[in-house]
Amino acid sequence: MAGLNGQQAAAIVILGAGSLATARRIQQRYPQAAIHGLRGRVEGADSQYDSFADTLRALYRQGTPIIALCAAGIVIRCLASVLDEKGAEPPVLAVAEDGSAVVPLLGGLSGVNGMARELGEALGVAAAITTSGELRFGTCLLNPPEGYALADLEQGKRFVSDLLAGEPVRIEGDAPWLAQAQLPASDGAQRTIHVGCEARAASRSELLIHPRAVVVALAAGAPGLAEQVRGALRAAGIAEPSLACLLVAEQAMAEPSLQDAAAELGVALRFAAMSGTLADMAAQALPGARLSEQQGLVVAVAPAPLDVAGVGRKRGRLAVIGLGPGAAELMVPAVKAELSRAQDILGYETYVRMAGPFRHDQVQHCTDNREEMQRARHAFELAAQGRSVVVVSSGDPGVFAMAAAVLEALHASTDPAWHRVDLEILPGVSASLATAAQAGAPLGHDFCVMSLSDNLKPWSIIEKRLDLAAEADLVLAFYNPISKSRPHQLGLALDVVRRHRKGDTPVVLGRDIGRPGQTLKVVTLAELQPGMVDMRTMVLVGSSTTCTFERLAGGCWAYTPRWYPAPR
Ligand code: SAH
Repeated sequence: MAGLNGQQAAAIVILGAGSLATARRIQQRYPQAAIHGLRGRVEGADSQYDSFADTLRALYRQGTPIIALCAAGIVIRCLASVLDEKGAEPPVLAVAEDGSAVVPLLGGLSGVNGMARELGEALGVAAAITTSGELRFGTCLLNPPEGYALADLEQGKRFVSDLLAGEPVRIEGDAPWLAQAQLPASDGAQRTIHVGCEARAASRSELLIHPRAVVVALAAGAPGLAEQVRGALRAAGIAEPSLACLLVAEQAMAEPSLQDAAAELGVALRFAAMSGTLADMAAQALPGARLSEQQGLVVAVAPAPLDVAGVGRKRGRLAVIGLGPGAAELMVPAVKAELSRAQDILGYETYVRMAGPFRHDQVQHCTDNREEMQRARHAFELAAQGRSVVVVSSGDPGVFAMAAAVLEALHASTDPAWHRVDLEILPGVSASLATAAQAGAPLGHDFCVMSLSDNLKPWSIIEKRLDLAAEADLVLAFYNPISKSRPHQLGLALDVVRRHRKGDTPVVLGRDIGRPGQTLKVVTLAELQPGMVDMRTMVLVGSSTTCTFERLAGGCWAYTPRWYPAPR
């Protein structure tokens, strides 16, 4: 998710079709940014929203840079209520619909002026920069570029006002980004901008900036690891903001204490093979770095800020996700977030399409519905290389879908790299639940979920389970009720059910629920014909207590009460 200044990718938010052309020009400058369009007013946006104000506030709270194509005043009003909330402020810009003006509004310390200049360049206009320090010096001293960290913001603000008041300054250390700045430089200046990795006491006359050029290498996780890393940095005389990442022996990749430590230190985890010593591993991953052993860890100081993506490699991730029945509102937010960070998306073509649209940098691997084990193995091969992989299922991935296939592939594998993958299963709204919700509450009491497909199990087992479940008076939810290759089985299944259930038992048929053209029918078991059902249908057969009553809007409600009559 490489974005602006290491931030998340920006959101381009537009209100009308008239802004789409400008939005596309902005997207050419920031290819990772998605265009969000107002539903019903904008066709061809990457995603749609219903409320402009709610969308802006949600993006702001997530720390997503916002480029809003509308009046600056509208943006200010929408965000006014959230400005006091604590947290890092993302860049927020208003851009005129026709691209004739770029106004940075918020996020001075997260690079809004830089973005405004980039946008101004892309649109051929001058950005409306109003920040004094920025105007005077041509750069925001308090927002050093990616790879550098300011030691103390409050101290920095005082320092900049001193310079604005006319104090001269000199630079100690290597600050290539200041070469173009118009600073009041003088060799004899009292004020210094000091760039270096070492820990130094704060001083009113010094603006301290730390290059992120330090890596701490370790062989294994341990409780209290973050404190151990801090101890090693102190022993080496290094300031903590200089820490760029932790480099860990890949054998330890799956240890949870590593994630905790990295989160606490606010740095990335990277991994490398360790065959010799820790120092050998560090030297190989960071050629040219100065190494020292500190308290059982190795501290490596590189000569310049590090591109963390080039140090070792990251831990691969494999998420098996459920899209829900189809409608975007029924997709859980964790699944949406996972899709946006995925590098590779695997699945049956229909579902991959349903999960999109995807960015150009995301690779889609569409396969036939029957190649599940092969797809699962392919997913692990990609994730074991350090990629972020998503395997998509419809509904819930654990219900007659990919999660079990992925676990079966892992269970059968002796490759340690597969077992070290960060594997997560993210749930979705399964078709039986989505269908039940539309019909009322037919699954309100004990129920049984079955797939009627005999592709992966003998038909005799299906018949036996149907018989016992029907006898037990469970509500029955049938997935895969019928298909072209097995047209007669539903009839056979219903014969079994009819041995135990009365003809007036309600049956709910949901077809393409949550998708365009969805239909919902409630019939009786006596009326039910296999011809009313196809492979896109969910069949819910009621129990002896399931009942229906008229619904004013048309049709009926079906529900199964939560109580059950006491046995006679
Ligand atoms: N993992 C999926 C189920 C896959 S099995 C889930 O949890 O929903 C495929 C079967 O699910 C189909 O044959 C059909 O019976 C049912 N199904 C899936 N999506 C559906 C939908 N949108 N409407 C009705 N039935 C659906």
